[in-house]
Amino acid sequence: MNSPASTDETLAAWQEYLASLTAEPGSAVDLVDRLLLLVSQSRASDVHIDPTEGDLMLRWRLDGVLAPLGTVPRVMATSVVGRLKVLAGLLTYETALPQEGRLVSEATGGEFRVSTFPTLFGERAVLRSLGTSNSGLETLEQLGVGQSVLNTMRDALAATTGAVVIVGPAGSGKTTTAYAAVREVVEQSGGGRAIHSLEDPVEVVVPGVAQSQVSHSSGFTMAEALKSLVRQDPEVLMLGEIRDRATAATTLEAALTGSLVITTFHAGSTHEAVDRLVDMGIPPDAVQHAVRLVVAQRLVRKLCDCALEGEPTHDAAPLGFDVARCMGPAGCASCAGTGYRGRVLMAEVSTNITPHQTNTQIPFADAARELIDSGVTSPGELVRALGWRPAAGD
Ligand SMILES: [Zn+2]
Repeated sequence: MNSPASTDETLAAWQEYLASLTAEPGSAVDLVDRLLLLVSQSRASDVHIDPTEGDLMLRWRLDGVLAPLGTVPRVMATSVVGRLKVLAGLLTYETALPQEGRLVSEATGGEFRVSTFPTLFGERAVLRSLGTSNSGLETLEQLGVGQSVLNTMRDALAATTGAVVIVGPAGSGKTTTAYAAVREVVEQSGGGRAIHSLEDPVEVVVPGVAQSQVSHSSGFTMAEALKSLVRQDPEVLMLGEIRDRATAATTLEAALTGSLVITTFHAGSTHEAVDRLVDMGIPPDAVQHAVRLVVAQRLVRKLCDCALEGEPTHDAAPLGFDVARCMGPAGCASCAGTGYRGRVLMAEVSTNITPHQTNTQIPFADAARELIDSGVTSPGELVRALGWRPAAGD
């Protein structure tokens, strides 16, 4: 019973194994082998390993949300984290300072970044799976936004000037949408438009786009690079996240002077995006004329096939609007008990940009209603993803 019986570690077998450790603690080498096998075969992006006063707590991030993965007896805590450190080539005797390394699962070839950090009850470790990506979300259709949002985005991307600004909080998939948008332009134009990107860093290679990476240390900043790039006769520019006034100003200037610009920005909603550009010192009329479309977005978990009929009046109450029927999460082996599997994009869009009174053509509430009506997700997940109640008819 020292090694996994097969090369297929299921969640049920894993839980049974953990339960057996409560009766009799086992080998850390075996536990780590099984853990790496389970995680490599799952859709988890991260594993958190936390020593607490009573045990070693394991959690994994599925579709962007942390879920419990079981507990390991306290007596095994140090050796489990120690084993991960050995595999990642870290200094095992150094427990007072954070360390970072890389490990490869022997069973599956799956690669992980390992990061350790000292805490009150010992070192905690986080494994980040380097193989998982938003694969399957390459085109605008695959993002799962509704037809009306899709049409609005396509119209804006067919234009020759103006900025398409994609906003959302960290981890909301802005870059994924920007890549999907630029792929749409490549496809629409069939190679007939000069398309360039300035990225920080280049994350995905897109055929048909001249991609460049900015470098702060050598002074090749976004604003500096853009000044030279406009002399390269570009028609479409994909620019990395706007983080400062200089970049915002150069970006919008390019959008005003003959290029279609696709860029991203940290803001919660379409209103907030426009107001923040003005707050950064961009003249309101420049914002109004340069910005063609604002897309504000969140990644929302899709209900697994095991979903059950929900209680509309109860479940949807926090949303602030009525729904006739809704589905809710259940939990099965295929979704690892979370009730959700995979993610889609929920977006609100605004094309009529007027600082301080932006009209949101398709608000989050519309997108939310569509996702509930079609049973794609639950009211509870929308409240989680938005972090606030979308106002109906706003
Ligand atoms: Zn399920």
